[in-house]
Amino acid sequence: MGSVPMDTPSQPHTSETPFGADARVLRPRRAAPADTVRATRAEVNLAALRHNFHVLSKHSGTTALWPVLKADAYGHGAPAVARTLERAGAKGFCVALVEEAIELREAGIRVPILVMGGYYGNHHDEVIHHGLAPVVYEAGQLEAFARAVRFLGKEPLDVHVKIDTGMARLGVRPSELATFADDLVSRSELRAFGAMTHFASADAASTDHAQDQVRRFEESLATLRQLGVKPAVRHAANSAAVLRGVGLFDVARPGIAIFGVAPRTSDGVVLSDELKPVFRVRSEVIALRDVKSGEGAGYGHLWQATRPSRVATIAIGYADGFHRALTGKASVLVRGKRAPLVGAVSMDMAMVDVTDIDGITLHDEVVVLGTQEGPLGKDTITADELGGWSGQITWEILCGISRRVPRFYREP
Ligand SMILES: *Cc1c(COP(=O)(O)O)cnc(C)c1O
Repeated sequence: MGSVPMDTPSQPHTSETPFGADARVLRPRRAAPADTVRATRAEVNLAALRHNFHVLSKHSGTTALWPVLKADAYGHGAPAVARTLERAGAKGFCVALVEEAIELREAGIRVPILVMGGYYGNHHDEVIHHGLAPVVYEAGQLEAFARAVRFLGKEPLDVHVKIDTGMARLGVRPSELATFADDLVSRSELRAFGAMTHFASADAASTDHAQDQVRRFEESLATLRQLGVKPAVRHAANSAAVLRGVGLFDVARPGIAIFGVAPRTSDGVVLSDELKPVFRVRSEVIALRDVKSGEGAGYGHLWQATRPSRVATIAIGYADGFHRALTGKASVLVRGKRAPLVGAVSMDMAMVDVTDIDGITLHDEVVVLGTQEGPLGKDTITADELGGWSGQITWEILCGISRRVPRFYREP
C-alpha cells in the first residue's frame, strides 16, 4: 500500500524535552486503517460515544465528567475518543499510565489529564512538561515531584491525593493521611488540587458498601481541611456509581458506560437502558467447506460433525481478542443470523457451522461483536454476551480487542 500508516510502529519516540535520552516513552502501537489488508476490523461509532457521554452527563448533574480512557480507551483508540469527547464537553480525562497521558497530549487534548496508576518511573519531569495531573499517595512521589519542579524552575504542580477508603489497592490509608498531608503542605512546589478515592463494590446489589466508602472519604476530606488542605476537585464515582447517583463530588470518572456497556449489579439489575454500544467488530468468511458426518475440525478435533455440515473459516482468532475460551460456546452473526463456533478458536482464525445459513458465500461479513442486519434477519451480540461465553467481564472483552485489529471511526 502506498499510504503512510497513522502510527509508525516500534520507533522510540523522543518528546521535545530537555531531558536527554532518558526522557523517552514508547509510542503505543496499533494497526491503522492504512495498514489493513485483512478484512477484520473494529468500527467505533462516534455518535454513540457522544450519546453515552450526554446520558452520563444527565445522571451526574453538576458533577463534571472526566471519562476514563485507560488501556487505549478500553480498546476503542484513545486519541480519536478523546478528541470526540473533548468536543462534546468533557472537562478532563483519566488514564492509567504516563505513556497514555502523553499520547493524548500529543493528539492535541488540552483539558486536564489525570494519571491514575501512580507509577512515574523516572519521568516526573515529563509529567510536568506535558501538564499532566499525577495521582500521589506516598512520600517518595512527593519528594520526586518536588525535586523535579525545583529543577525545572516551574510553577507549583497540582497533584491529586488518592485515599484508600476500602478498595485496599492504591491510596493513603486514612490513619496515615495526616502525616502524608503534613508532608504535602510543607512542600511549596506542590499543591493538593485534587482528592480521590475508588469504590470496590459500586455494582453490589446494595449501595451500602459504596456509601460507607463515601463516609470515610468525607472524614478524610475533613482531616485534610483541618491541616489547611482544601482540594478543589474531589472525585470518587466510576460508571456504576454515576448511574446510581453515589459519590458524586466535583468530578466523576466513568469508563465502561462511556463505551455503551451498562454495568450490571451483582444481582443482575442493568443500571441503564439508555446507553448505545460503541464497538462493532467484524470479519469475513475466508474459506468454506463441506464436511461429512463424523469428520472433525480444528486443533484436537474438539468438534466433530454429527450431520453433513458446511463449515466457514473466519479471519479472527485469539490474537485479535477473540478469546480461545469462546471455543464451543460463542456464536457469530452471518447474513443477519447466528451461527455457532465449531472447533477450537485458533490464533488467527476460527470456524463456524453455517449449515443453516442459506446463501452463504465467500467474503460474507461476519460480526463477532455488535449488530448485523442481513437477508436472514437482524441480531446483536453484546460484550456482556461474549463475556458470558468466555467467562470474562465486559471490561476484559473491550480492552481485549487487540491492537492488531485496525479501528475505523464512524459518524453514522
Ligand atoms: C477504571 C477506573 C475507573 C472507571 O471504572 P468503570 O467501572 O469502567 O467506570 C474509575 N476510577 C479508577 C481509579 C479506575 O481505575
